[in-house]
Amino acid sequence: MDSGIGLRPPPTFSSLLDGGPVALFLDFDGTLVELASGPDAIAPRADLAERLSGLGERLAGRCALVSGRSIADIETHIGSIPIAAAGSHGLDIRAATGEPLGDPPEGLPPVIERELREFAAEHDIDYEAKPHGGALHYRSNLTRGADANRFAEMLALSHGWSAQRGKCVVELVAKEANKGSAVFTLMQTAAFAGARPFFVGDDLTDEAGFVASADLGGAGIVVGDREPTKARFRLPDVSSVHEWLDL
Ligand SMILES: [Mg+2]
Repeated sequence: MDSGIGLRPPPTFSSLLDGGPVALFLDFDGTLVELASGPDAIAPRADLAERLSGLGERLAGRCALVSGRSIADIETHIGSIPIAAAGSHGLDIRAATGEPLGDPPEGLPPVIERELREFAAEHDIDYEAKPHGGALHYRSNLTRGADANRFAEMLALSHGWSAQRGKCVVELVAKEANKGSAVFTLMQTAAFAGARPFFVGDDLTDEAGFVASADLGGAGIVVGDREPTKARFRLPDVSSVHEWLDL
């Protein structure tokens, strides 16, 4: 279903598990953690890493965080990540053991970084440097959102990079970065192979994860009322995600 209207909640988590091995892919912001005024203002529950560790055990290791944030950045907020993780929109993928999967990602070329910084300063919005990209955040100045998106898309086009839009943010990332490729990469590892993947996320960038999961016999679960979506199920908010997973 493309419109996303009328999507139901997913079956209970334990009934999913009764149907055979399940792999779970979890977005971070807006899915496990409430969105905040800026990327550093989030307040994850204190025991989140411990809870994710328990979830990983329940799934025999078939559980991964998939975020636009870098892995290091997530770890500053919740401590060491005890499960597999794909940071920086899937550019930096690690097994649960911490072993890196795939090639190390390239950083943002200085010329793009300078242009993004100058744009942010001129338009009174925030620039966030990331290990494998750079983001313009306009939550504090919503009137600049359209300009920021347009600028980022032009910049991406002229340098062969990709502009990914999110909630009040647009980010320049390498062209191959997307959450769907992170799902495919992890599903090829021995730990995940043969399971049905379910991807839980709230934002536009999660759609690639929904499509990849559906392609591999599972489904997407969208968090919140965003439409249209390729997800098959919907959960209304962060607390319902925690409840569904019994976190
Ligand atoms: Mg999110």
